[in-house]
Amino acid sequence: MKKVGVIGGGQLAWMMAKEAKSRAIELIVQTPNPDDPAAKITQNPILGAIADAKSTQKLGDRCDVITFENEFVNLEELKVLARQGACFRPHLTSLEPLLDKADQRQYLQKIRLPVPRFQVIDKDAKITSEYGFPVVLKARRHGYDGRGTFILYSQNELESLWNRLERPSMLLEEFIPFTCELAVMAARGVNGEIVLYPVVETEQEKQVCRRVLAPAMLPLEVKAEIQRIAETLLDRLQVVGIFGIELFLTPDNRVLVNEIAPRTHNSGHFTLDACNISQFAMQLEAVTGMPLKSPQMTCNSAVMVNLLGLENSHSDYLTQREQLAAIPGAVVHWYSKSESRIGRKLGHVTVLLEDANKSRAIAQRIESIWYGRSAT
Ligand code: ADP
Repeated sequence: MKKVGVIGGGQLAWMMAKEAKSRAIELIVQTPNPDDPAAKITQNPILGAIADAKSTQKLGDRCDVITFENEFVNLEELKVLARQGACFRPHLTSLEPLLDKADQRQYLQKIRLPVPRFQVIDKDAKITSEYGFPVVLKARRHGYDGRGTFILYSQNELESLWNRLERPSMLLEEFIPFTCELAVMAARGVNGEIVLYPVVETEQEKQVCRRVLAPAMLPLEVKAEIQRIAETLLDRLQVVGIFGIELFLTPDNRVLVNEIAPRTHNSGHFTLDACNISQFAMQLEAVTGMPLKSPQMTCNSAVMVNLLGLENSHSDYLTQREQLAAIPGAVVHWYSKSESRIGRKLGHVTVLLEDANKSRAIAQRIESIWYGRSAT
């Protein structure tokens, strides 16, 4: 039996653990809290902070390979473990240019992938937008679900926010008036073969992903460009594992890379129910050195809606979940987090559809069950 260690114990590791069970893979997670979703369904989790390399060392002692569900790691300390023989997949060199949003933008530019125009703002700089307004200011590290990403509409707003944050080094980038946001999951095996899932359309509200429509309806040349971007990136980084690539589509059909997640991603949750192999199984198979399956959808289309916490409470939202499960073609995934917080990702629902034209209406139905009549 292969033993895979995972740094992180949230919903991504929880979904990976379920896939591990049916593949005779033992999954061991490193996570700070015994109540985290994956810690509750795996044996003997290592209880330690994500960035605690001593915990990762213990993880490595029990596993054949270590992979990631969370990239908020201390890379320098992990490098020491790698030199001592710990096997990380993806390799630490594949992660290195990606963990900091400014480094990531610079790396993508260096390998000639299209990105929004950006500047790196340092403490002593005078902060001014070269791109007019609105403009987007981003924390370099530890941002997620829109935390650390700010859309600002005037010089005054920009300056006062940056001062309030105590002038950290940040990424300032042009606001892209995108026609839609896209994402693709791409995996690369130990032999260098690369496979891509269908490109999806993602919709965010207040910078947080609310729904994903799969597949995205796109001109062939846009799909080809996304394939080129994914293959270039995974090859250049010699990735072993799966990456999520978030993209903007501009009004003149240009594709720009917004962000790379060096792991499974929310935009790939639909693969659990709508594909021949899920993104979580793909990560496990890639990092354990198996040949990669060609991922395909097993239905015409699918819509995935995130179930975000509505309040700070211990509610398990059973009534809403039962109503969602009654929608034809729906599969509800509930992460069993110990408490609800406003905006926290508590679960998701995927509905498999024959007719792609129905996906927005279904998403609206889900959201009106979940958020009540005020859903938009
Ligand atoms: P996070 O890492 O928290 O997910 P992102 O950088 O992906 O943050 O940004 C979250 C969302 O903010 C994006 O999905 C998009 O809707 C919006 N956004 C981010 N950067 C830009 C940009 N340059 N132009 C327009 N919208 C943006």
